Amino acid sequence: MTFTVHGQAVSRGIAIGRAVLVASSRMDVAHYFVTDEQVHDELRRLRTARDAVVAEITRVQHGLQETTGLEAHHELNALLDVHLMLLQDTQLQDGVKHWVQDRHYNAEWALTSQLEVIAKQFDEMEDPYLRERKADLEQVVERMLRHMRGVASPVAGPGGSDEPAHEDPLVLVAHDLSPADMLQFKQSVFVGFVTDVGGKTSHTAIVARSMDIPAVVGARTASQLVQQDDWVIIDGDAGVVIVNPSPIVLAEYGFKQRQGEVERERLSRIKNTPAVTLDGERIELLANIEQPQDTVPALSVSAVGVGLFRTEFLFMGRDGKLPDEDEQYLAYRAAVEGMHGLPVTIRTVDVGADKPLDRASRDDHLNPALGLRAIRWSLSEPAMFLTQLRAVLRAAAHGKVNLLIPMLAHASEIHQVKALLARAREQLDQRAAVYGPVRIGAMIEVPAAALAVKMFLKHFDFLSIGTNDLIQYTLAIDRVDETVAHLYDPLHPAVLQLVANTIAECRAQGKGVSVCGEMAGDVTMTRLLLGLGLRSFSMHPSQILAVKQQVLRADTRKLRAWAQEVVQSDDPAALMAD
Ligand code: PEP
Ligand code: MG
Repeated sequence: MTFTVHGQAVSRGIAIGRAVLVASSRMDVAHYFVTDEQVHDELRRLRTARDAVVAEITRVQHGLQETTGLEAHHELNALLDVHLMLLQDTQLQDGVKHWVQDRHYNAEWALTSQLEVIAKQFDEMEDPYLRERKADLEQVVERMLRHMRGVASPVAGPGGSDEPAHEDPLVLVAHDLSPADMLQFKQSVFVGFVTDVGGKTSHTAIVARSMDIPAVVGARTASQLVQQDDWVIIDGDAGVVIVNPSPIVLAEYGFKQRQGEVERERLSRIKNTPAVTLDGERIELLANIEQPQDTVPALSVSAVGVGLFRTEFLFMGRDGKLPDEDEQYLAYRAAVEGMHGLPVTIRTVDVGADKPLDRASRDDHLNPALGLRAIRWSLSEPAMFLTQLRAVLRAAAHGKVNLLIPMLAHASEIHQVKALLARAREQLDQRAAVYGPVRIGAMIEVPAAALAVKMFLKHFDFLSIGTNDLIQYTLAIDRVDETVAHLYDPLHPAVLQLVANTIAECRAQGKGVSVCGEMAGDVTMTRLLLGLGLRSFSMHPSQILAVKQQVLRADTRKLRAWAQEVVQSDDPAALMAD
């Protein structure tokens, strides 16, 4: 049966493929494909884990006989018998085997996928006693996962397999994916993504955008409605997911997909055209990157530098073991060298909120976005921060580096950052380590910072406006929460006034200013930002050419008065069409 699910349009274009469901169980595990050669090892890991859990339960049963009273003994023993039975259950074993052998899922993914299949069957059972056995099944699976976590994985990382498990294109459908999960999928086979949760500027969406493949987030119940192997169309422009489309719909979207390719091909012709407006204003189009290797797509669209290197992706998904100075230095240096002399803006680590360090540390505070995030976390961990600062300073010996600090609001934070930077230099001097000069910039992404922008200009060489957070904090809309996504409005007068004011103050004082939030890559905003005086835009490489096209068609002299009118208006959206 055909049906449609609506969500947030995240990433351009159309993807058509068969659904691969990532289990949305409480058990958060890594998901990746293994190679043919690794299938055997994965099955062995599963067997070892199962045998270990059987041995563990048997030991507990023996212990029971010695320590507990007769009645409790019977009850617990019966429960443990159920657990043993579930572990030996052929449906669990055969199912898991199928996911590994036929689909090439890693062991943990296979186990949680089969858990979902069986759990659904339990849910449908009439007998309440049997229905409750689902919890037992979850417990034994959790025990197996714990054992597997303790055993070093002999398998390759994401994308380890060149061969998809079957020949059709695959789209991934999940309840939620962390930004780190998303990064894991970056080199994998998926042609599109759908998640139940998330807003347009959630970090999961941002990484999807950097992959330049169609994605829809905030699709509510998609992961429950879509079945494994269903044919799915993802319209990343409209935020629509069509499941089991009819041949006519499929043909229509196939046509749209080809049209998109033609448009991209057309855009690629302006790759080497300088980004200069009709009135001769030179516009800087920079790339946002998450990993050093992202400099390759950045250069392929002629980005004139990196305006935002989100370094937190080096820190995430490492089970608390943070990268040391040398590892970071090598990564930053790789990015600097990868840009061949063009400037690279390295932002210090911004973890917290929807970018947890690892799965276990996922923030369960009430208001993680208002908590110990970004620079706040860095200042609370000075040794970690100094390590990063030293690594950035050393990388600056290899090319032009700007150091960017996220989420500043307070003068005290500015002073602490400066003192720690001086301390990092001293430490390098003591070791006679080679390092280079850096320009230092602040992100303006908290309304307090935008309102006190003069204070920031006294201390920094340049500012970069993080519109994703600026919108979130100005409008009190969690950027990750799809239930309030409709209120996340880049055109709210308050947001526009903060952006306009920051640009104007920087220009008045002759300081560099750029926008590095998603607003910079949104072609519907280019003219407005140009009209407000912005001359530096940083965005995912995939958006650079489309924005350049807007730049080439714009005359900033004509946009100035109109932009002021938009900012002063109660209904900016109405004026935007003019
Ligand atoms: C922003 O907030 O706009 C920004 C660029 O930072 P991030 O999206 O990484 O929070
Ligand atoms: Mg931000």
